[in-house]
Amino acid sequence: MSSAKQQQRVILVNGANKGIGFEVIKKLLEEPSSSTNNLILLGCRDLKRGQDALVKLGSPSNAHVLQLDISSEESIARATNEIKQKYGGQLDVLINNAAFASINESADIVRDTFATNYYGIKTVNKHLFPLIRENGRVVNVSSGMGAYALHDMVDEIQKKYTSATLTEEEIDGLVKDFISAIGTNTVDKIMPHTKLPWLSYSVSKTALTALTRVQARQWSGAKNVLVLSVCPGYCSTDLNNHAPGSRPPAFGADSILYVVNTPKADLENGAFYQDGKKLPQCSECEMDFSKITQDAENKA
Ligand code: NDP
Repeated sequence: MSSAKQQQRVILVNGANKGIGFEVIKKLLEEPSSSTNNLILLGCRDLKRGQDALVKLGSPSNAHVLQLDISSEESIARATNEIKQKYGGQLDVLINNAAFASINESADIVRDTFATNYYGIKTVNKHLFPLIRENGRVVNVSSGMGAYALHDMVDEIQKKYTSATLTEEEIDGLVKDFISAIGTNTVDKIMPHTKLPWLSYSVSKTALTALTRVQARQWSGAKNVLVLSVCPGYCSTDLNNHAPGSRPPAFGADSILYVVNTPKADLENGAFYQDGKKLPQCSECEMDFSKITQDAENKA
């Protein structure tokens, strides 16, 4: 193996056929030594959309499409095998960027939201963590909306989410309680005064940020791996119907790439970042709700 090959980073970004994930891939490919140092896997649930995205990027020889629907364990297992068979079976960086959001809170939509944004990423990590190389990184793309949702939860639940001894099973329990509260129209028992739009999306991100802390604790000893969550900031993408006032998705990509490229000593394992700064797990929303709600309704 040549020394260039030995230094090569294998990076997978899921949900990368458009939006912020696409910009992450674009920026990775633009890094000066990318063609020798990076093997990029563009994850997408629809092969054609992924192939079209790769063409838009100029079909670089060090980037490949990987079909991966993160809400399907079968698809995740297939993608894991493909990485083993075609790309050396090792990853340096896994960026869990894919997500689903809807302002509609019907039972089916709520299930889909958690199946992708929480359980999907948890299952991806279960299958792909064994492939992460020593000193690798897992980056979960979360959202400030998750911190705002946690702020609006009753004290008892806030304490559970922020506990230093929280476990994956406990997060699963909290998620199940929220989903059943939606079904029985009793969310006010969990979040009595919340006015947040995209409620299930927001709570799925509360759970993802918490999962990041738990997995960071579980896995740091194993391979010196960092597990981090990131908010890309409010960016103009299909997710929010390209809301007026939102920033370019390339800025969101920079926010993600900060935790990919910053030296380990300058990052805190398990922490939540945006634009290079650590964010609290729980914070009061100072955004203009009426504008966010309007954006979401436009999309629905
Ligand atoms: P987009 O809607 O533009 O892109 C979402 C991507 O996720 C698409 O590629 C979509 O694929 C993919 N995806 C959805 N479901 C699945 C699935 N089951 N399996 C695989 N891929 C899937 O959203 P953004 O680029 O805005 O969002 C990227 C990340 O940033 C998300 O995690 C989001 O929550 C987060 N974020 C975004 C903010 C914003 O303001 N835009 C703010 C805060 C966080 P397809 O094209 O096939 O639908």
